[in-house]
Amino acid sequence: MIKELALILKGKDKMTDRVRFRILALSLVCVYLIQAGIFTVLGCMPLVGVNLAFCLLNLAGTYRIRNSRCCLGWISVVYFVACFQSLLSCVLLGWTYGFSLYNIAMIPVVFYMLYLTENIDNPKKYALIYTVANCAATLVLRSIVYGGEPVYYYPIGTDFKISFFNNIVCFILVIVFSTLFILELAVSRKELVEQNEKLVRLANYDELTQLRNRRSILAEWKSMERTDYCVIMGDIDDFKKINDTYGHEQGDEVLKAVSASMAEAADRNDYVSRWGGEEFLLIVFGDLAYALEVVKRIQQKLKQAEWKSGEHKIVVTMTFGVSQRGSVPDGNIDELIRQADRRLYLGKRAGKNCVKTEDG
Ligand code: GH3
Ligand code: MG
Ligand code: MG
Repeated sequence: MIKELALILKGKDKMTDRVRFRILALSLVCVYLIQAGIFTVLGCMPLVGVNLAFCLLNLAGTYRIRNSRCCLGWISVVYFVACFQSLLSCVLLGWTYGFSLYNIAMIPVVFYMLYLTENIDNPKKYALIYTVANCAATLVLRSIVYGGEPVYYYPIGTDFKISFFNNIVCFILVIVFSTLFILELAVSRKELVEQNEKLVRLANYDELTQLRNRRSILAEWKSMERTDYCVIMGDIDDFKKINDTYGHEQGDEVLKAVSASMAEAADRNDYVSRWGGEEFLLIVFGDLAYALEVVKRIQQKLKQAEWKSGEHKIVVTMTFGVSQRGSVPDGNIDELIRQADRRLYLGKRAGKNCVKTEDG
């Protein structure tokens, strides 16, 4: 518990429901024990008994709570018991002792407990019901008890000292639990941001090759303002044979290695995407000569690669079709893709392992 508390204070982790409940129950046990001591000094034995009984109840809760499922029940018990205990103290000693402050202090505490405990459906409903019940009971009792005769009388000034103590404890309760609430929310928010980043990555990047996927490159392309680029469509030659010969897993490794080679061959600003299967689409910023240079770099990397399956060297070649943004006046993306695809197909028909920049 101490370890978990240290992590949450450093803003590194969220608490488990069990630890969160234990912190609450044990904090209240401390309060009950101190109050029991005060009541003993005052000789108010019924409240000493009630406090000790509620201490035991809270301790039973910390022992019984094993998982999140029984949390709601125990949170409710601890909360209502705390409210009941403070109102009973008000009735027996009088309103001026400040015990009703605990009912107010328990409101942020119960919000924190209900909202952050997992598996509580509709915490808003419970928080509202518990708060209204608490407020109603406190206000009704106040109108009955306030100004009336308390059951136990003590010398003048006793109420001042005890209400001072109650003020301090209630401030501490509110400050501690509000701080824990904020710290845990900050951790949750951080986790959400990280998860969101992961989801964005999963949505935009191909998991196997770590290249942009078709959806992502198209979105990027549509919002692109530059017009000085070429489109390269590349397809691995006879990839089916590689799969059939060396197995699908080895095929995956080849896809990864080819993708890495293409990413290295292109400039940092160029886009390299996995268009689908063993087909890739690149947007490279520059003229046709630059696009051909990129293709050449890729071909060189494929040639120099030392990919092996056991003793066998895996030879990989690719065929490319290139289209230029300048040759399509309105820059129609579909037309540029069609053109590059057509040229890629021509390259395949012409014997593969080549690059085509024209339709003829
Ligand atoms: P061509 O030279 O005409 O392009 O022939 P090819 O064999 O490369 O093309 P074909 O379309 O006949 O086969 C493509 C193969 O790529 C078939 C498919 O199983 C394989 N493939 C597609 N995606 C993956 C993948 O993610 N991993 C692996 N290992 N294979 C894949
Ligand atoms: Mg192929
Ligand atoms: Mg293909």
